[in-house]
Amino acid sequence: MRYVQLILLLFFAVLTSSVAQAVVELAPEGQSPKVIDEVYWQDQTFFVAIEDVLAAVDRSGEWDSVKHVYRFDSPRGSVVIAPGSQFVKVDGSYRPLNRKPRFIDNRLRVPEEFVTRHLPDLIRTPIYYRNLTSREEVEEEEPGTLDRLFAMLLRREASSSNSARLRALALDPGHGGFDTGTIGLDGVQEKEVALATARQLAKITKMRLGVPVYLSRDGDYAVTPAQRLEPALKEEVDALLILHAQASWDVSVDGAALIVRPQEEFEGERIDAERGDSMRLARHIQQSLEAAGIETSGIYQAALPALGRGNLPTVLVELGYLTNTKDHARLVTDAGRETIAQALYDGLQNFIRKTEEKAP
Ligand SMILES: [Zn+2]
Repeated sequence: MRYVQLILLLFFAVLTSSVAQAVVELAPEGQSPKVIDEVYWQDQTFFVAIEDVLAAVDRSGEWDSVKHVYRFDSPRGSVVIAPGSQFVKVDGSYRPLNRKPRFIDNRLRVPEEFVTRHLPDLIRTPIYYRNLTSREEVEEEEPGTLDRLFAMLLRREASSSNSARLRALALDPGHGGFDTGTIGLDGVQEKEVALATARQLAKITKMRLGVPVYLSRDGDYAVTPAQRLEPALKEEVDALLILHAQASWDVSVDGAALIVRPQEEFEGERIDAERGDSMRLARHIQQSLEAAGIETSGIYQAALPALGRGNLPTVLVELGYLTNTKDHARLVTDAGRETIAQALYDGLQNFIRKTEEKAP
């Protein structure tokens, strides 16, 4: 076991690489291409600053700091891009994106797909686009490394003492550093909300139970996918909570949401999420959030890399909408976050107690 831990430490030392960047060329077809060299690789996609994209096709737009959206005029009408939204709004209709636009290094960036799929139609001009960087060059992790780490996301032996208590908790506050996550009312950044909530939950858990709580980050810095899994691999960790917050065009949309992996392992076999412990944990958290007056829209299944594999009870909690005044008020105040953290703690506790009752 010690040997395995040492190997893991070495993995993480190697994986702590700097931010990957790429270079692309873009221009209206037939014109000499402009080089855009500040392109980021995240979530398996290249992200280009919207201002650089528009400048390369001789257009420009502007950031609306009140509504927190970016606008530019096109022959199709006014185009509105919102950080954290899965859609681009074009003259009242919506066009889907495979990845959400986001702030990286203080600039709003769109996925490469926006340039290749939507831009030519929006500006009614064919474009020349070429990415000079290969995926291999920007992949932060050596192929297979994450797979190996996922495979280790297994629940350790149950506590030998029969006390129904959590032995250790892993928390992954979303985003960090140049990756701000979504931006909400008053410019609040998702990365701040996720970290502040994680800290409060860690404090409650340590105070009440005196057990270790491991965070994937305890400050404002970027974290690689492998580093996000690191705390979950520690001995005696009984659960992993991943904390995020959302944004929407529709300011009336509110509430928390819970996400679990669609399948997990049980005694060496894959079982549907419905029968797994992550789902049980999600249900307990949903109950405790609602008992605390925090509405939830439901429990969803998604094959997100952040959720890993294996059978460690893992739930991604979308804490609420930063674009909704009620959720926002809860997420930006200490008192509000205290309520959320307490509810998450209660959900965990109820889950652990029921787990122990189930054990022979
Ligand atoms: Zn997020």
